[in-house]
Amino acid sequence: MRILVVEDEVHLAEAIGQILKTQNYSVDIVYDGEAGLDYALAGIYDVVILDIMLPKRNGISLLQELRKQGCGTHVIVLSAKGELGDKVLGLDSGADDYLAKPFQTEELLARIRALGRRKGETSVAGLSYGDLQLDMSNLVLFSNNGDITLTLKEAELLEYLMRNGSVVSQKERIIEKIWGFDSEAEANHVEVYISFLRKKLKHVRSRMEIRAIRGVGYVLREAEEYV
Ligand code: CA
Repeated sequence: MRILVVEDEVHLAEAIGQILKTQNYSVDIVYDGEAGLDYALAGIYDVVILDIMLPKRNGISLLQELRKQGCGTHVIVLSAKGELGDKVLGLDSGADDYLAKPFQTEELLARIRALGRRKGETSVAGLSYGDLQLDMSNLVLFSNNGDITLTLKEAELLEYLMRNGSVVSQKERIIEKIWGFDSEAEANHVEVYISFLRKKLKHVRSRMEIRAIRGVGYVLREAEEYV
């Protein structure tokens, strides 16, 4: 999962970023509401953690604009304004959840996991597709015939393909999603990681394979000998 943190208190933003990275989430951090809106509208995030009191544009206004533009990304509003009225306003403005500061790390993580589950495909144990199961917290891929450890990038790439299911994942989207906007990553990075993943799918003797769709990207499918 890729998470956007919009928080102007630098220490807090970085602390949240560190916590999320220990859980193998990819994290981008921005420090004001305008940058937050730009990033959130890119549509590459699974969850946005959003402060309310922000420079340039407050969190509520950001959230309203996001929803107005049809962006359905999950948003957890995080704010020192823990009063009931603010909570109601946040939820009415399109937040999926609301957490008052100060909060416990464990609670934030549990709420992120809950939103991940709401997306549909994720079970408590991990993500599954075809005969594959991916445990993102331990970076282990299982099939009915074995298991293997993945690197973080391999796991993120496979997670993205699994979440997209039968929808083809575009190469440019994969780069933005896995390597982020600031990276120098290019199309051949994706090819290299796809080839690593193919070897690992073979290793666990999965029925699934990664099919390249010329000029578009990749999709995870049941291999032809099984269809
Ligand atoms: Ca703030």
